[in-house]
Amino acid sequence: MKAYLSIGGNIGDRGKNLAEVCRRLREHPQLKLLKESSIFETKPWGNLDQPDFWNQVLEIETDLPPLDLLELCQKIENELGRKRIIHWGPRTVDIDILTYDNREYKDDRLTLPHPRMEERAFVLAPLREIAPEYVLPSGRRIEEVSGEGEVRKL
Ligand code: AMP
Repeated sequence: MKAYLSIGGNIGDRGKNLAEVCRRLREHPQLKLLKESSIFETKPWGNLDQPDFWNQVLEIETDLPPLDLLELCQKIENELGRKRIIHWGPRTVDIDILTYDNREYKDDRLTLPHPRMEERAFVLAPLREIAPEYVLPSGRRIEEVSGEGEVRKL
């Protein structure tokens, strides 16, 4: 199954943390990392009094079911020391599942596709780079939608 992940963080060595997420995903036997976008620097969303984020989108192929994939993402987040002190506050690394095989899913742990993916430039800009023909869950083509927020490709 093909899935897209959004990864980002604004604490510590941001480049190293993103690379570490990719390394851990690559190591997993049931997952292939197919594409990695450039890194985009993003002004923080919500609470502005914090460092800029670095964000990336990844295309993966996996036979892990959605909840197992979520569990893996959360395990990596925890291992990289993410601390959730402030909502929308600084974080080492956040991993969101954007889409999973065009499936819809909703329970208290996981919503697919990610409900805010089409609003955010830090998701759409890197996704557009690795999947320029992508059609978003709303049916719009990714090239027609830019989302909110200020992003700059590094
Ligand atoms: P966040 O602040 O974005 O890291 O939110 C994390 C919470 O969102 C976790 O408790 C997840 O269970 C939940 N969640 C719901 N849908 C998703 C998704 N598509 N990808 C990642 N986390 C999700």
